[in-house]
Amino acid sequence: MLGLAHRLLQLIGKNLGKQKLSILIYHQVLPDFDPMRPDEATESVFRWHMALISRYMTPISLAEAMQGLRNNSLPQNAVCVTFDDGYINNLTVAQPILDEYQVPATVYIATAFSDGKNMFNDRIFDLIGDTQRQRFDLKAIGLGEVDVSDYASRLDLSYQIIRKTKYLHYALRVETIDKLYKDNAAQEYPRRMMTSEQIKTLSDKGVEIGAHTHDHPILRTLDAAEQSEQIAQSKSILEVILDKGVTQFAYPNGKLDDDYSLETVEIVKQCGFENAVSTLQGVSDSSTDVFQLQRFLPWDNHPLKFHTRLIHTLVKS
Ligand SMILES: [Zn+2]
Repeated sequence: MLGLAHRLLQLIGKNLGKQKLSILIYHQVLPDFDPMRPDEATESVFRWHMALISRYMTPISLAEAMQGLRNNSLPQNAVCVTFDDGYINNLTVAQPILDEYQVPATVYIATAFSDGKNMFNDRIFDLIGDTQRQRFDLKAIGLGEVDVSDYASRLDLSYQIIRKTKYLHYALRVETIDKLYKDNAAQEYPRRMMTSEQIKTLSDKGVEIGAHTHDHPILRTLDAAEQSEQIAQSKSILEVILDKGVTQFAYPNGKLDDDYSLETVEIVKQCGFENAVSTLQGVSDSSTDVFQLQRFLPWDNHPLKFHTRLIHTLVKS
């Protein structure tokens, strides 16, 4: 019965979604559910996502997709899989599943974190998610002392801190989180992001590597020179690690106007990239700016819902 519904969706996508491309966006694939990261795919969810797209859609690499968009030769129900930031679990958990289902993928790396630092949002989740603590000193960001009880209140508080810090200049953002750790005498969580060697291993296993700036700043908060530096630096570091050209880019946070501007798009072109992905929801076709490709957040927890939303997005745009 369910198989029939999936085949019907496949047929609708084939007929009404011609020459359209879905690009899925993931960050982590967690070995087990993490209550502080409820929206991240777990290994079991990611496995059925990949099983579904390999059975009912046509997973292709972003490079093939670009060629398909240019020549109007995209296969039916074309889909690309992408990951942002550069988590170790992209290599240890996701890659074996990608390999098993023969699904190509691109991983966009923010290069500063390959030295062992964690990203600011993870540092907040790790601090506030520490169940040994019920009270936090958040005077440094004007929130005073805050008590938490369950995971819901820990998550609410984390999101509140993220909202207060995300759009700070990235250097000040790091300083602010450093201060919160110091004020709470907290230990850093072990590294979550890939080392240079792990990035190279992932590439050697056939995963495309793209750039995602060096420090993961909100590019709109930087002047043109700083943006250029952040974008070019991540490209050149990755090219040294991989010993080959890096031509794909993802904007941190990824929303036009909020997170990057048309000036940023020009800088990305000048740096020698061939395409770039945003986090704007939707699908791409031959009329889409390849420097602002749209993506799709795969957060559904049921296969039929996931498939329906994929095809609905493909057909409606
Ligand atoms: Zn990112």
